[in-house]
Amino acid sequence: MLETSLPETHLEGRADVNCPSCEKTEARVFLELGQVPTNSMVLLDTKEQAVSYPKGTLTLAFCDSCGFIFNPDFDPDLVDYSQSYESSQAFSPRFNEFAARLAKDLADEYNLEGKTCVEIGCGGGDFLQQVELQGIAKGIGVDPAADPDHRVENSTQNLSFIREFFDEKHGELNPDFLCCRHTLEHVPDPANFVRKVRRSLGEDSSIPVFFEVPDTLRVLKEAAFWDVYYEHCAYFTPESMAALFEQEGFTDVRTELDFDDQYLLLHCRPTQGGTVVGGTRAYVRQLAAEVEEFSDKYRKHVAGWSEFLSEAKREGKRVVVWGGGSKGVAFVNSIPGGELVDFIVDINPAKQDKFAAGTGHRIVGPESLRETPPDIVLIMNPIYEEEIGKTLEDMGIHAEIRSV
Ligand SMILES: [Zn+2]
Repeated sequence: MLETSLPETHLEGRADVNCPSCEKTEARVFLELGQVPTNSMVLLDTKEQAVSYPKGTLTLAFCDSCGFIFNPDFDPDLVDYSQSYESSQAFSPRFNEFAARLAKDLADEYNLEGKTCVEIGCGGGDFLQQVELQGIAKGIGVDPAADPDHRVENSTQNLSFIREFFDEKHGELNPDFLCCRHTLEHVPDPANFVRKVRRSLGEDSSIPVFFEVPDTLRVLKEAAFWDVYYEHCAYFTPESMAALFEQEGFTDVRTELDFDDQYLLLHCRPTQGGTVVGGTRAYVRQLAAEVEEFSDKYRKHVAGWSEFLSEAKREGKRVVVWGGGSKGVAFVNSIPGGELVDFIVDINPAKQDKFAAGTGHRIVGPESLRETPPDIVLIMNPIYEEEIGKTLEDMGIHAEIRSV
């Protein structure tokens, strides 16, 4: 087995780090992953630009008080969400199906017909459009990367976009429902952020609030190293996320897992009284045990894939990674020998013929595989295996498909 090029771990165990979720100083560093590209979704026009893309320090710390996992070395100034940030997953039918079902479930549960819905971190407005289909009166997206002149195709024009970071003042939008999907994991000071959300809602304790993030327990258990990347500075499990919302003045907190248990969904509403602070947190001890094993599992997993790519190369096999999102880019960047992957494939035309930050892999559309058929296709998310298998079959490509 190859040695991995992971950095020396002299700082591992660094203790007394301030936890930005419970705001106690009981966090400690448990894994240092060194320098990684500060944006795994950015699209670069040339290989040179991609290879020289800025890097930042990725470190993971665990809070022994609330179970929150975060990157204490995260520098928000290094992440530029306004520049060519392509996060839309709306090209995948499997993902669209999930978003449509979720929008319907939320509309049914919270009677959203005729209501005003605000989405924090709305991106291009894909989800807001799904919610709009449920008959809301108004949908407002707040996102520093949103385009205020954005008009969504097939929309009845009840949607509007504000190009700003969410702040307390956005309470004046008077939402009947507030949602925030896949944003909190990008926020370095979640307590402060959730506090702003709570303050924006004022005294009205009837407003339902919905948050969605990746579930970290799965990442820990599977040592899914491709799910750990620079932009994700905050890692929640159901319990640590619920603890944060209760601490910041929300009640009726309910969490569930969806999208093959990959996503963590949290429902709550503002409390009128004071905050509820958790008592004994047994889950933190269980989580601490997972964290202990993670570093070891992580290194073995990375080394295993490194060996796999070397062997494929020795046998003259062509390997491609399917999925030019953060997972695919984090995967090739984390593995010593990641450059042995020939291409990254993505169905999103906006990503095609661009280059991945760090390794500088070219991203191609599936059609390009006809010219140079791969022997092995590595799939970054097993949930898309059927979809990808069918695309390859339709093109007459008989490659070995492997989910990472
Ligand atoms: Zn904490």
